[in-house]
Amino acid sequence: MLHELDVHQIELELQNEALTAAQGELQLAAAVFAHSADGLFVCDRNGLTVDLNPAFSRITGLAREAVLGQAPASLAALGVTKDEFAQRLEHALLQGHWRGEIRGRKANGQPHALMLSLAVVRDPAGQVQHCVGAVSDISHLHTHAAELDRMAHYDELTGLPNRRLFADRLAQAMARARRGGHPLAVCYLDLDGFKEINDQHGHALGDQALIGVTRHLSTVLRSEDTLARIGGDEFVLLLDLESAHACDAALARVLASVALPVQIGEHMVSLSASVGVTLFPSDDADADTLLRHADQAMYLAKEQGKNRVLHFDVQLARSQQNQREQLARLRLALVQGEFRLYFQPKIDLDHGRVVGVEALLRWQHPQLGLQPPLSFLAFLQGSELDHLLGEWVLAQTLGQIERWYAQGLSLVASVNISPDHLLRPGFAESLQALLAAHPHAPTELLELEILESAAVTDLGRAAATVSRCRELGVKVSLDDFGTGHSSLALLRRLPVDGLKIDQTFVRDLSTDRNDHALVTAVIALGVAFGCEVTAEGVETLSDAAELHRLGCRFAQGYGFARPMPVDQLDDWLVAWRANPAWPCQVG
Ligand code: C2E
Ligand code: MG
Ligand code: MG
Repeated sequence: MLHELDVHQIELELQNEALTAAQGELQLAAAVFAHSADGLFVCDRNGLTVDLNPAFSRITGLAREAVLGQAPASLAALGVTKDEFAQRLEHALLQGHWRGEIRGRKANGQPHALMLSLAVVRDPAGQVQHCVGAVSDISHLHTHAAELDRMAHYDELTGLPNRRLFADRLAQAMARARRGGHPLAVCYLDLDGFKEINDQHGHALGDQALIGVTRHLSTVLRSEDTLARIGGDEFVLLLDLESAHACDAALARVLASVALPVQIGEHMVSLSASVGVTLFPSDDADADTLLRHADQAMYLAKEQGKNRVLHFDVQLARSQQNQREQLARLRLALVQGEFRLYFQPKIDLDHGRVVGVEALLRWQHPQLGLQPPLSFLAFLQGSELDHLLGEWVLAQTLGQIERWYAQGLSLVASVNISPDHLLRPGFAESLQALLAAHPHAPTELLELEILESAAVTDLGRAAATVSRCRELGVKVSLDDFGTGHSSLALLRRLPVDGLKIDQTFVRDLSTDRNDHALVTAVIALGVAFGCEVTAEGVETLSDAAELHRLGCRFAQGYGFARPMPVDQLDDWLVAWRANPAWPCQVG
């Protein structure tokens, strides 16, 4: 059992130990308080600052004496408004703590961003004793974020907005214009000959020139305009216009500013630019498309000689778009077998016999019904489909010749050949292959109808192709004769078997003396050149009789028969043979 004195001694020692431990804790807390990198402050329950550490003064720039006893002390020091601080404090009182970012100013006025934590200390009865605050300066994080933002949205070299920021601005400007604001000019600007400058002077001096041009360009823009650099020497401009008319004047200023001399090494050099522009909302496209339209116009400006502004042609673009769509639909029509051949008989006026037919293309459109060739042929011009469809017509016609021939019918079938198709390299070879694929069709039963325009485009090639085709045994005739400017000259140069007098002359034969004279002359000319002459568009038998009297041997037209599908033609041929509607038999 322990002695009473010993017990007392032990109690004293324990108390001393506890005291020493408490003192140690206090010293530690004081050291933490003094050396913390975060600014720490303590307020009493009235918000008066009772203590703060050196870091607080360092961060805020306020001396200890200036803050101690202030109510609420941290408010002025943190540079936030009284209300703001009160709100945070209230939150801290309710929730026990508050943590968040605050933006304020240092004592010297410099803006800073702080991370602030507030914690409320209560006594065991729940009464607020103190509020403890910690602040750390996070301005550097903001600077870093701003730097990242700058790198993400601005061009390094010129400091101009880059493509991404431009896209944002464009979206905003479009929204403004749509809300009834001013029209918007979206411009694509490309420096002329900049590659040569880079090649000649090196990239460093090229960069110098770009900076110079940027400076000049910036002087002619207003604050609401945007200039951005989106590639090597490619800039885009967004101009907020008073009216669409103001566009040209604004862009003239832009071109003039580009022309101001810039320093390249030791030289002062004057540059120029090609600019393509499209106006929103008259060009009512999305942002990407607007930029593409401006780009397309810029390319045209380059093509047309550079150093100029060219407007994107909305009408033209629409018709080109329509052209593309029609072409795609026609391609589908060929794949889906929607094309048909109609045949129109050709009559020998000497005997009233049917000597041939002209194959005429139709499109059996699933919704629109039967479409005439002039409603869709123009869309084919210059496309691959033009000759694909031409080959289809040739193959179908050769197949039909074979079938008729097998039935004992020797009808010459004429096929219309488009100028592009005829002038395509290898036309005669393709024809030869098609003939070989239809060995039961005598080649002399195929006739090609070609247009004068083919010969006008390239007479040498046209004449050579025609000769090759005739060597294969195929006949060739000149269609729509008399409508071109050089029909007469062509007859001399193109070795054709026949010519077809255009229906526009035949139509008014009986009423128009000039047409009558012309038809008379064409017939005489054809005969003189040893050509078979066919009149097309013969609508009455009296016209047919007059044509025959003038020396025209063959005729085609509604007066005899309309173009028709092959099954109807078979019936028509039977009926015609039994009772030909041609009385002018030459005995
Ligand atoms: P084209 O070769 O001069 O054909 C004559 C056109 O006159 C045909 O029109 C025919 O239906 C029409 N026609 C015939 N007789 C009369 C008549 O008495 N009165 C009137 N008013 N018209 C008559 P279609 O079939 O509409 O063809 C128009 C043009 O389309 C053709 O003129 C030809 O240039 C072109 N075409 C037709 N089929 C083809 C084809 O397969 N390929 C190519 N490349 N062009 C074709
Ligand atoms: Mg024809
Ligand atoms: Mg014709």
